[in-house]
Amino acid sequence: MEQLYDVVIIGAGPGGLTAGIYTGRAGLKTLLLEKGFAGGQMMTTYLIENYPGFPDGISGMELTSLMQKQVEKLGIPITNLEITKIAPQDDRSFILHHSEGEIRTRAMIIASGAQARLLGVPGEDRLKGRGVSYCATCDGAFFKNEHLIVAGGGNSAIEEAGYLTHFASQVTVVHRRHQLRAEKMIQEKAFKNPKINFIWDSVITEISGTQQVESVQIKNVKSGETSRIDAGGVFVFVGMNPNTNFLNNLIPLDEDGFIITDEKMATGIPGIYAAGDVRSKDVRQIASAVGDGAIAGVMVEKYLE
Ligand code: NAP
Repeated sequence: MEQLYDVVIIGAGPGGLTAGIYTGRAGLKTLLLEKGFAGGQMMTTYLIENYPGFPDGISGMELTSLMQKQVEKLGIPITNLEITKIAPQDDRSFILHHSEGEIRTRAMIIASGAQARLLGVPGEDRLKGRGVSYCATCDGAFFKNEHLIVAGGGNSAIEEAGYLTHFASQVTVVHRRHQLRAEKMIQEKAFKNPKINFIWDSVITEISGTQQVESVQIKNVKSGETSRIDAGGVFVFVGMNPNTNFLNNLIPLDEDGFIITDEKMATGIPGIYAAGDVRSKDVRQIASAVGDGAIAGVMVEKYLE
C-alpha cells in the first residue's frame, strides 16, 4: 500500500536538515529528499567562520556530516530523489512526482536552495569544466600556480578568492562596481592578501580558449574600454538562482523566482512551508537557514495537529 508521510522535506541543506531534526523529534513521519548531495552549498564551503559554536571555524563537509548524523539518528534517512511536480489532492494531501514514481504526504517543507547564477557571456558554456567553474572547493586544486579570475563582489566571490590563493599564483577579482558587497571582515582579509588584486568597475564580456580557458575579455563599465587578461581559470560567483522550477506556479514567488513566505515560513498554500536560501529574503546564511528550518519544522507540527 502507498505510504502516507506526515511531512516530506525537499532538500537536505542546512534548512532541510534542521527541519528534519524538528519534525523527527516531534514524532512526525518524515521523508527527507535530496537530488544532489546532502549539505547543499554548505558542503562546497572550505571553511565556515560565522556559524556559532565553532570559534575556530569548521569545514562545510564536517558541519554537513554532523547535521546529517543528527537527522539520521532520529531514523530519518536522506533519500536521493528529485521531485519534478507537486499535485495537491482534494483531501488536502499532496502527491509528489519523481522519476521513479510518486510520494504522498500531508505537508511539505521546500528547502531546495539555490544554485550559481551564470555570467551569460560567450565562451562560458563551452569552457565549463575546462577552466570555468562555480565551485572553488571542488576545482581550486586543479589550478596550481596559475593566474585565476574571480567574477563578483559578494561574500562568495571574496571568500572563495581567498581560498583559491592556496593554489593559484595570483587571483584577480573582477567586480562591476568600485565597492564590494561582501562583509567588512571578509573584505579586509582579501585586501591584506598579497595574492589578490582587484579590477574595479568592470565586467567579463568573453571567456576564450581552445581546449581550456586561456584568457578573458574585460570591459570597464564606466569608460567602455576593453582589455584582455591571460588566465588559466575563471571562477564565477555572481549570485544565486532559486531551485524552484518544479513548483510550476503552485506557490507565489518573487520576481527572481524565490518563494514568498511569512515569518512562520508558510507559503500561503496550506501545508506547504519553505526554508533556507530558496526563500525570498535579504540574508542568506547557514545560521539563518537553520533558523528557517527550525521554524518550518515547528509550524508543520502545529499545522498537522
Ligand atoms: P550576492 O551576495 O548576491 O553577490 C553577487 C555579486 O555578484 C555582487 O557583488 C554583484 O554585484 C555581482 N553580480 C551579480 N550579477 C552580476 C553580473 N551579471 N555580472 C557581474 N557581477 C554580477 O551572491 P553570493 O556572494 O553568491 O552570496 C549569496 C548569498 O549567500 C548572500 O546572501 C551571501 O551573504 C551569502 N553568503 C554568505 C557567506 C558568509 O556569510 N560567509 C558566504 C557565501 C555566501 P553588485 O554588488 O554590484 O550587486
